[in-house]
Amino acid sequence: MQKWLLNADAVAFRMANRHSSFFFRIFLPLLVLFTGCQNGDPSTAPTENSPSSNGGRLKVVATVGMVADIVGEIGGERIELAQLMGPGVDPHLYKATRDDVQQIMTADLVFTNGLMLEGRLEDTFNRIAQKKPVFAMTRDLPQDLLLKPDGAGDHPDPHVWMDVAAWANCLDVITEGLSKSLPDHATEFQSRAVAYRKSLQALHEYGLSAIGSIPESSRVLVTSHDAFNYFGRAYNLEVLGVQGLSTESEAGLQRINELVDLLVERKVPAVFVESSVPQKNILALIDGAKSRGHEVKIGGELFSDAMGAAGTYEGTYLGMLDHNITMVARALGGTAPERGLSGRLALPKGQP
Ligand SMILES: [Zn+2]
Repeated sequence: MQKWLLNADAVAFRMANRHSSFFFRIFLPLLVLFTGCQNGDPSTAPTENSPSSNGGRLKVVATVGMVADIVGEIGGERIELAQLMGPGVDPHLYKATRDDVQQIMTADLVFTNGLMLEGRLEDTFNRIAQKKPVFAMTRDLPQDLLLKPDGAGDHPDPHVWMDVAAWANCLDVITEGLSKSLPDHATEFQSRAVAYRKSLQALHEYGLSAIGSIPESSRVLVTSHDAFNYFGRAYNLEVLGVQGLSTESEAGLQRINELVDLLVERKVPAVFVESSVPQKNILALIDGAKSRGHEVKIGGELFSDAMGAAGTYEGTYLGMLDHNITMVARALGGTAPERGLSGRLALPKGQP
């Protein structure tokens, strides 16, 4: 955790000092200044009733898939949505490309996760927020729902989407953001949010029962980095990551050895890899346990900080969590349908 803090500082340092290219230091601020100077008050800057894109559709940019998918669900055909970070992309390390900045500059509003998840974009969003509305989905989350790991100071764990019930609390920010820009459609956004919340509730209940069926001794989730603390809290699992809260920290040999001890002592049957984080640390755990006579298998690939492929069920927030819940429950000895709550999950590789 200490390491993570140091790394957060390092990110801030980099944001201030290393993005010293002409583009970030001079061009972008000037662009913000010139396009923003007609309107000095940021609270009135939003383009109310005047979405800039064609056909009256609101041009919206969202960062990670978990945010973009829900913005799309609630905004429907009223918005034109661009997602900055696709499948397999690690948001902790992501830097804005010129294309991204172009998308952000021409958007009517922007949605992020917040809580420093998009650490290297923070500076860009702070500047953009002076010109147009930037909504962090976690903005109104009650403090008592935030996890603050020991040693992380005041920095809450950003991976809130792993607790479906907590994530459902974040829908209102999206409804508010869209409704402010397109007030004529506020009722429509609200009714879509109500329907979507019902799907989230069903998924959360599935999580409770599926993960709840794992035998007590195997209720340990070992993954590459600390993305699953909210998942563990919501569904009553002990969660251990090889790396810290951010993938910026390096896993130490000592941490690997501690986890190997635990896997061997508790006879944990499976560990998990993540789609957006390299597998080497998890493979080191498996080798370590094997050298001590305990076979651990890879329980599968979980979606932690990015969703599955676009156009698939796993490429939606509901599918992502259905996949994680189902895979963890089944690999650790619990009961869950092979194709998940919805019956729409892809079968594990190698099966027809
Ligand atoms: Zn993460």
